[in-house]
Amino acid sequence: ETKVQLVNKLIRAFPDFPKKGILFRDICPLLKDPAALTAVTDLFEEHVRNNYKRVDLIVGLDARGFLFGPLLAQRLGVGFVPIRKTGKLPGVTSSVAYDLEYGKAEAEVQVDAVAPGQKVLLIDDLLATGGTMYAAIQLMRKQEAEIVGCMVVIELKELNGIDKLKPHSVFSVVQY
Ligand code: 5GP
Repeated sequence: ETKVQLVNKLIRAFPDFPKKGILFRDICPLLKDPAALTAVTDLFEEHVRNNYKRVDLIVGLDARGFLFGPLLAQRLGVGFVPIRKTGKLPGVTSSVAYDLEYGKAEAEVQVDAVAPGQKVLLIDDLLATGGTMYAAIQLMRKQEAEIVGCMVVIELKELNGIDKLKPHSVFSVVQY
């Protein structure tokens, strides 16, 4: 069994959640299994080491990017920065509004969290329309960070989220 197979078999699909017509991919069984959680972190780490010369920060997206981002940051020996839904971060923040697969939202980052020229890697659990990841890219551009790439556990291919994120690269562990 490969690491990808180990990860893939622990992602469940729930029809009609959180709304009718949405097939929700649930990563909770993956989090609960220590070997699979190690495997997904290994795959992220291998991708970074094989493709990027330098990464200064892992930037995680609210909320499930917070589950995988710090694990990867620890492997790489770099820091983790959260992008949060609006109203959660103290101090001076920068924000951007965006459309979700189901609704509207606003994302924020602390302006002192990322310095101009820092090389950042964005991470989330899943890429659907790409709207959430695109908002994170906009926030990082406002910070004048250098985006080295985007990473997700799951890419939903038929929604073409990666097109919205060009020219940035998107690495995914599994694709549906
Ligand atoms: P997008 O903005 O690409 O349309 O949606 C991606 C965002 O919505 C991610 O932050 C992700 O956590 C969440 N999301 C959308 N659909 C799913 C799903 O089926 N499963 C999970 N785990 N998250 C989803």
